[in-house]
Amino acid sequence: MDLYEYQGKELFRRFGIPVSEGRLATTPAEARAAAEEIGGPVVVKAQVLTGGRGKAGGVKLAGDPGDAAQKAEGILGLDINGHVVRKLWIENASEIAKEYYLSVTFDRGAKQVLFMLTTEGGVEIEEVAATKPEALARLHVDPLEGFQPWVARRLVYGAGVEDPSEQKQIADIIGKLYRCFIESDAMLAEINPLIVTPDGEVKALDSKFTVDDSALYRHPAIAELRDTSAADPLEAFAREKGVTYVKLDGSVGILGNGAGLSMSTVDVVVVAGGRPANFCDLGGGGSAEGVVDALEVITRDPQVRAIFFNIFGGITRCDEVARGILEALDRLTIDAPIVVRLDGTNAEEGRRILAEAARPNVHVAETMLDAATQAVELAA
Ligand code: GDP
Ligand code: MN
Repeated sequence: MDLYEYQGKELFRRFGIPVSEGRLATTPAEARAAAEEIGGPVVVKAQVLTGGRGKAGGVKLAGDPGDAAQKAEGILGLDINGHVVRKLWIENASEIAKEYYLSVTFDRGAKQVLFMLTTEGGVEIEEVAATKPEALARLHVDPLEGFQPWVARRLVYGAGVEDPSEQKQIADIIGKLYRCFIESDAMLAEINPLIVTPDGEVKALDSKFTVDDSALYRHPAIAELRDTSAADPLEAFAREKGVTYVKLDGSVGILGNGAGLSMSTVDVVVVAGGRPANFCDLGGGGSAEGVVDALEVITRDPQVRAIFFNIFGGITRCDEVARGILEALDRLTIDAPIVVRLDGTNAEEGRRILAEAARPNVHVAETMLDAATQAVELAA
């Protein structure tokens, strides 16, 4: 789950990482009121779950409350990488002398937490990694040893931060960011830019924060921050139904059981010359009810022209899946043809059930490739 900048900053603040004072606004009038309360120049920032807001014109300085209202007017409704701006964060404008970058994430390969710090902040970190890799200090934290103060010092020296006061402040922020990251079960905590003001004060000017979905039950306060209005409505509906679903942009709806088979199903549709409309994993159980839920989600996508069911029965029983398909056809209006490939546990019984039901829009195929080819033809 990705947090908005203002939510991430609120977490930072709780863990003692310096951030600017700010207010949320959803209208120009609220932006004006926020700027009045804060006093002095402010920065008006689009709150969307994507990066590059600055470049897209979603971050603007405003000298006074009237100006803040005007800037808010211009940013609200802006489309930034497909995200429409509905919320603004108005904060005390900072003077910037230097822009650094600090992040902590998981290095899955190393199975350790990874810190990255560079004094080349403000720009995309991928750009720094590609063009000036020597400027990027990287350091792993041994999970058994935990975080030690030397980690922060080595990072700060490694990145070439020379000013002693900055070294001290950044080392302190690194320790706090680590605690914030671990205690929130985060997967990414990124500060870009981490600024130094002309007075030498270091603070977080931005926040990118991702919390592990599987750990949200331990953090009800964070889970509540989820903004359902920002999510893709179809994916939100799938989450509600407990269906593992990712929307894609093709016309062949896909349902497999198990993530591996579902991924292969996406691939085989592409091999057959089609474009998958989604990724959908029925999971290990594959009960009739699960099949109905999944079909309900898949058929809500108006782009779906044909559906490809690819089931390999292990724990999942193919007869149960077949019954689920028939039940779904009774309960939902499904116009799209369904191509079914069943193999493994009770496959023959499953095929027999489908054959006996003789539904005009259900086609049974022998192999995965046959089924994909049929589904692609039917979707054309
Ligand atoms: P992003 O483009 O989505 O990463 O949004 P950021 O929060 O990083 O803001 C983009 C840029 O706007 C920053 O890199 C800063 O250069 C600038 N910016 C943001 N806040 C302030 C501020 O308070 N004062 C000044 N002078 N510039 C700011
Ligand atoms: Mn940024």
